[in-house]
Amino acid sequence: VIGGGPGGYAAAFFAADMGLNVTLVDMEANPGGVCLFRGCIPSKALLHVAKVASEAKHATNWGLTYASRRSTSTSSARSRTAWCRKLTGGVGQLAKQRKINYIQGKATFVDTKTLSIEPVGKTAARRSR
Ligand SMILES: Cc1cc2nc3c(=O)[nH]c(=O)nc-3n(C[C@H](O)[C@H](O)[C@H](O)COP(=O)(O)OP(=O)(O)OC[C@H]3O[C@@H](n4cnc5c(N)ncnc54)[C@H](O)[C@@H]3O)c2cc1C
Repeated sequence: VIGGGPGGYAAAFFAADMGLNVTLVDMEANPGGVCLFRGCIPSKALLHVAKVASEAKHATNWGLTYASRRSTSTSSARSRTAWCRKLTGGVGQLAKQRKINYIQGKATFVDTKTLSIEPVGKTAARRSR
């Protein structure tokens, strides 16, 4: 299966559960795709942080005051990254449990039956050493 997004990893998991020997290829270190790495989850986390910040800003109207409301965008981005890593790591574990051969790399069809996989990320760094 090329692509470890919600479409790809669901297909890979299903095929493995059906007893097939499955290889899943994605450019990221773990499956998760746009949804877990950049889309659904990070955007909902951002919306939640914005809502909390807005409520905190208006809390003085209800008699609550905070010593400091300094922007903590760096630490909020860090915790977002940590959550994404945790979630995608969890999907990676689910792939391992199913004995799916996960390859981090960019897949290209050489012909109808041959796939070339260009290493990316840590795989590429390891190979170049
Ligand atoms: C900001 C944002 C918010 C969103 N919010 C929601 C939401 O709340 N609810 C919802 O249902 N949907 C949401 N979506 C949509 C959701 O992210 C997509 O529907 C979903 O990710 C599609 O899954 P997919 O598996 O089809 O593709 P993708 O998630 O795009 O996965 C494709 C994967 O294939 C890999 N890939 C591509 N080409 C190659 C190659 N040649 N070799 C190896 N790997 C390759 C990519 O690295 C990627 O990981 C949101 C999207 C965005 C951008």
